[in-house]
Amino acid sequence: MAEAATPAPVAPSITSHLKRDADGKPYIAGVKCGNCGHTYVGERNTCAKCYARNTMQPVKLAEKGKLYTFSIIHRSFPGIETPFIDIIVDLDDGAHIKGILKGVDPDPAKITFDMRVKVDYQEIMPAGAKEKYLAYYFIPDNS
Ligand SMILES: [Zn+2]
Repeated sequence: MAEAATPAPVAPSITSHLKRDADGKPYIAGVKCGNCGHTYVGERNTCAKCYARNTMQPVKLAEKGKLYTFSIIHRSFPGIETPFIDIIVDLDDGAHIKGILKGVDPDPAKITFDMRVKVDYQEIMPAGAKEKYLAYYFIPDNS
């Protein structure tokens, strides 16, 4: 996380649901159903829970949640360092999001279902890229 005195980074986002606010602070963008209140990552027009149409309002999603499930990835594309931990997180606002868990050894004995995690924004240089991109990961939330 950037400190307050650090100028806002300008790296473009690596995915469409990762955005920056007017101050340059990153957030995960989602929508909230105006009918039932369920939240989703990214944009959509129809609620998958109550089927209401055109009631979605843009929201900043929660940055904390709990690990729902994980896979330890041992083989990937050239240039992608393995192993890494691919996860699905139940965010505290009800949205579900895919991500990568860092700060934990890729060992099933060290990863627990329902463990608390939080978003960690990072500027990364993807393999083969010519510029840095803003990305998000999850790390253990011990707070
Ligand atoms: Zn709904």
